[in-house]
Amino acid sequence: MKNNNKKPSSLSKLMQYSGNYKAMIYTSWIFAGLSAVFTLLPFWFIWKIISEAVSLAPDFSNPHHMKVNAIYAMICALCAILFYIGGLLCSHLGAFRVATNLRLHLIRHISFLPPGEKDRIGSGALRRVISDSTEASETYLAHQLPDQSKSTVMFIGLMYLMFRCDWRLALLCLIPVLIGFLSLMSMAGKGLREKMTNYQNALSDMSNEAVEYIRGIPVVKTFNQTVFSFKRFKDSIDRYSTWASGYSRDVRLPILIYTVAINSIFLFLYLSVNLIAKGNIDTEFILKIIFFVIISPIMTAMLTSMMSSNETKLKVEDAISRMENVLAIKPLVSSNSAHPAGYSVAFENVSFSYDKETTVLNHISFEVEQGKTFALVGPSGGGKSTIASLATRFFDPDEGRITIGGVSLKDIPKKELMDNVSFVFQDAKLIQGSILDNLRLGKREASEKEVYQALETAQCMDIIEKFPTGIHTVIGSEGVYLSGGEQQRLTIARAILKNAPVLILDEATAFADPDNEAKIQAAIGALSRNKTIIMIAHRLSTVRHADRICVVENGSIAEQGSFDELLSKKGTFASMWEEYNRSVDWKL
Ligand code: ADP
Repeated sequence: MKNNNKKPSSLSKLMQYSGNYKAMIYTSWIFAGLSAVFTLLPFWFIWKIISEAVSLAPDFSNPHHMKVNAIYAMICALCAILFYIGGLLCSHLGAFRVATNLRLHLIRHISFLPPGEKDRIGSGALRRVISDSTEASETYLAHQLPDQSKSTVMFIGLMYLMFRCDWRLALLCLIPVLIGFLSLMSMAGKGLREKMTNYQNALSDMSNEAVEYIRGIPVVKTFNQTVFSFKRFKDSIDRYSTWASGYSRDVRLPILIYTVAINSIFLFLYLSVNLIAKGNIDTEFILKIIFFVIISPIMTAMLTSMMSSNETKLKVEDAISRMENVLAIKPLVSSNSAHPAGYSVAFENVSFSYDKETTVLNHISFEVEQGKTFALVGPSGGGKSTIASLATRFFDPDEGRITIGGVSLKDIPKKELMDNVSFVFQDAKLIQGSILDNLRLGKREASEKEVYQALETAQCMDIIEKFPTGIHTVIGSEGVYLSGGEQQRLTIARAILKNAPVLILDEATAFADPDNEAKIQAAIGALSRNKTIIMIAHRLSTVRHADRICVVENGSIAEQGSFDELLSKKGTFASMWEEYNRSVDWKL
């Protein structure tokens, strides 16, 4: 029975992106094959010239076909070059089209992915997926496949010429080729594909960590840290180094045998001559030897190109599978079918897992009434940030639903959802642009006056006054450094400008010094007025005035209620509160 589940090859996957240029790619193979034929023909004519020269010796005054054969050889060499250039032209046109379509498709897909997924994969790894998969496909289609077509035709042509010339010499010359190939095949048996994947994973990790490292350089400089504070970056380099040296060690011997074997065709030729001729070397045999001497370097060059094309193929397959992993992530889609009738927020039986194996949230249900503040507390790793990420639709839940004003987030048009929800997280995200541009992300049409008002309310005027260009100062430009606390205040100003009715807040002030902390608290106070708030509280002092408190532990809700209700329950929250008070007393 025919196997319909056969996996499509790398080529057919790439061809889906070739649009009208498919024919170009196929034409490039035909041209490369023709170029191979025309590359071999000059050798045939040269052999004829040598034969004639030997037969004429020692009187070369009256050659018959030498000149014609020389002209034929030159014409063929020229045709070989022209067909090769034509082939490369076609292959590059096709390859660039595929690379462009692939890049556009990936960027479009990534722009619709849940923001949380993009954070999880990492910007470095995403950049590698986009650039490497297109680069690898370009090399594969523009160079490797035409070269493969050329090598195949040349191999067949060479075999024909060699066996036609002398089958015994041809067979003996094939021995080193066979040794070389057996050695290459032994490499494949060592799980080379898997090692290549691990090697590429290590490269990807390193790329991610390098991006983080570069982003963090200002912090390192400002706080007088050493480069060793970037332990993860160093670890990723060490891992890469382990994989790279392991990979090199594994392929060292087979590649060595292969290289020695295919370069020793001359040696086998020498041995063959002695074996076959046994000292009786006539003119005809000398001619055959000359022919083999001429063509064996082509054989070596051709086999070397075949070997490197094998490695490129592994790289392409790996790059394509990484691309497919990203393409397999479901984009956020919205049915655009409903509009919230208010600004209450509810989690209904929500379960979620990042890796679809370990459950991080387990049947979570709660409701936050419009205009009320809901505080999430609990031990680190319990799931509070995950709840906040789901409420902002950074991810969609695996089970259950999340609603605003009674409407599932999945049904609210994306723009409307974004207009209705603001978030201020610990890792304040500012883009490389002016402070004004960053704030206008909250409200595109905001006037400069409105921006100043928001900055003032968010206690940011000291930041603006620090720079001579004020709100036009470009974040990330030379000499412009903002502390974590300052960045957080700017994101609060952005949220104030946006003035969305629902606010998801991570109140952590991890970066802040006491002065910054007081300002952040004041800014948050201003931002929070009349909003429905889900707040991750890291210090219990801030939850006193929350309307409802929810203790999240191991992905479940351990307790929920008002501050007084929870204290009187004498459960987890009560003991957390006791502990907190003890620590405050101890500090005092
Ligand atoms: P909390 O905010 O209460 O400290 P989190 O929601 O950050 O807890 O984490 C809950 C669990 O989910 C933890 O086990 C954490 O390791 C895991 N987790 C958090 N973010 C991710 C992520 N992006 N990918 C995979 N696991 C994650």
